[in-house]
Amino acid sequence: MPRERILILGGTSDARHLADGLVEQGFDVTTSFAGVTASPLLPLGAHHVGGFGGADGLAAFLRAGGFDRVVDATHPFAAQMSAHAHAACESVKLPLSRLERPTWVAGPGDTWINAATLAEAAKKVPQQARVLLTTGHKGLDGFFAREDLGGLVRVIEDPALALPQGWALVSERPPHRLEGELALLQREAITCVVSKNSGGSGTEAKLEAARQLGLPVVMVRRPAKPPVRSFPDVAAALLGITGKAG
Ligand code: NAP
Repeated sequence: MPRERILILGGTSDARHLADGLVEQGFDVTTSFAGVTASPLLPLGAHHVGGFGGADGLAAFLRAGGFDRVVDATHPFAAQMSAHAHAACESVKLPLSRLERPTWVAGPGDTWINAATLAEAAKKVPQQARVLLTTGHKGLDGFFAREDLGGLVRVIEDPALALPQGWALVSERPPHRLEGELALLQREAITCVVSKNSGGSGTEAKLEAARQLGLPVVMVRRPAKPPVRSFPDVAAALLGITGKAG
């Protein structure tokens, strides 16, 4: 019997772990990357690097590749790719599911300032704050336009960003540990953390560190995505797709 062919839309550590698990169970897996990270950690199986050319391009790729199903394991903020996946799978009639970590939820001791977009987040940062920006290197203009703000922009890879005066870049790949986050916030005299509500344990320590130090967190809500069958973690996705635990 031919092996089931699965396309995983990747770009997250969960996507990588899911691909590894499915390959180990004998599935024929291709993981796709947008191509924005120069040296992504590669999962087992085949890889496709670069976009598909919109929903139509993805539909053509799925047909040509003889895929049997698609798993959208992109980052919760990759809204365009998820919309394209939904439209393409509808058109070629393939099952689509999503691997998406639960959102972080504010608890006792947290001071969260919620924002719908990065632009709104930039407006909501308290006056004169020294900020740790952890939202990636795109869409930061609103923060840089505020002359009362400064701080650190933390990215996974150095995107050669030209930063305004008062801002510095720090390149560091998650996971981040609590001790390191506490040390960073204190050493850099950070007074406000800005985060997307990405969820997951690898980047959660900054929230605990902010809580312990009594710092506000400006939290950007997730964009809406089309409703599809969703798995909260890799183990659940493996079980749902294969019928067997990983
Ligand atoms: P996006 O806005 O949803 O997608 C922009 C375009 O990039 C898509 O239309 C598609 O191009 C291409 N693309 C995105 N993900 C792809 C994938 N896995 N495989 C092949 N092509 C892909 O995405 P984004 O927010 O720029 O994120 C880009 C990638 O970085 C995603 O894979 C995501 O998982 C990862 N990532 C994003 C964030 C974030 O905060 N947004 C954080 C961590 C990781 P075509 O239309 O040409 O197919």
